[in-house]
Amino acid sequence: MLRFAAMSGLVLAMATSSAYAQEAPSAGDLLKDPAVKAALEAAKASEAQTIADQIRFCEIPAPPFKEEVRGQELKRVFEQLGLQNVRIDKVGNVLGDYPGGAPVAAPRPRVVIAAHLDTVFPEGTDVKVKRQGTVLHGPGIGDDCRGLAVVVAIVREMKKAKVQTPGAITFVANVGEEGLGDLRGVKELFRVTLKDQIDRFVSIDGTGVHVTNVAVGSHRYRVTFKGPGGHSFGAFGLANPIGAMGRAIAKIEEMQVGRSPKTTFNVGRVGGGTSVNAIPFEGWMEVDMRSSDPASLAAVDANFQKAVDEAVGEENQRWAKPGMITVVKDLVGDRPAGSTPENSPIVRAGLSAATVLGFSANLGEGSTDSNIPMSMKVPAITIGGGGRGRDAHALTESFDTTDSWMGTQHAMLVTIALAQR
Ligand SMILES: [Zn+2]
Repeated sequence: MLRFAAMSGLVLAMATSSAYAQEAPSAGDLLKDPAVKAALEAAKASEAQTIADQIRFCEIPAPPFKEEVRGQELKRVFEQLGLQNVRIDKVGNVLGDYPGGAPVAAPRPRVVIAAHLDTVFPEGTDVKVKRQGTVLHGPGIGDDCRGLAVVVAIVREMKKAKVQTPGAITFVANVGEEGLGDLRGVKELFRVTLKDQIDRFVSIDGTGVHVTNVAVGSHRYRVTFKGPGGHSFGAFGLANPIGAMGRAIAKIEEMQVGRSPKTTFNVGRVGGGTSVNAIPFEGWMEVDMRSSDPASLAAVDANFQKAVDEAVGEENQRWAKPGMITVVKDLVGDRPAGSTPENSPIVRAGLSAATVLGFSANLGEGSTDSNIPMSMKVPAITIGGGGRGRDAHALTESFDTTDSWMGTQHAMLVTIALAQR
């Protein structure tokens, strides 16, 4: 859900940490810097190049868990543009450093600007991009090839204009944002690759100009019920795994959840059994629960667990077969909830960067790579890459390039503002 935010204040990037407590320049001041001004103008003027990159990245397949080839292309581009220390970490994230202007070994703050490599589309999907006027059609063209192209545009034009920042910027093309990827790229970034080194995090994901500061968390389970199974007539009297699952679903559907913050549950897939005349030996279901509030997410999860356990007990009791049906709940998705406060410097920087450029930005909530830093209380936002996206996650996905340069400019000014002390 998106809502409009009041724009207030032009002060950019006042750091939260006392180490960076001095007042940062206003966006207006940043715009007076000739190098920044030149980079922003070039971000608009070179939009055709940015769109060409977006199409090229999109036409390299990047199915879940198979992002290597697209990652190699981003590595090549990072090197060609002169980023330092270009590397690929253990899980496949591609990183490159834009050195801070200050002549110190490890300039702070360190800002990470990321976009994700992976798509939801399986191997073999036709990823050829087709143009119709201003509209590009192709699976993944907006989500998140737009983000990747904007990352590259920021690097290209900041380098060319020789923009210097007191802080360091690490640009990242990360793996594992979508679905069962379960944010594994950004988890690795924060837990291993750049552990304790990230002061501010921005994910460029999706389209339009927006600032997402609320992370909707989710828990996903695959629940498997098991029993001996047998002939439907001859073995009648056995407890039934699908019977237990039916009882569990009935209980789940009766669960009560709060409206604000919005908390949800869904039994999305079921399966099991082998034949109409066999008592099944197995039944399974997949369940998704979400909330932006960690406590509400924990509560709905606890109620779900209880519902499943009680259902198994009741099925066994019904047939007087204690212990016959067993259940395993596998956590297959775990995206932590969290948020960055609306009045925090990073959110204000995101909004005011839009204001001074003459655009308007909405505040929003979503489930993105920023869930990880938000849950760890590291300042983080997710912003759009501009343009207008449609049908993300569908084969009919499209991206309207009309005025898409606005997203490039906005992301660039956010990057520069956050790399101030
Ligand atoms: Zn995405």
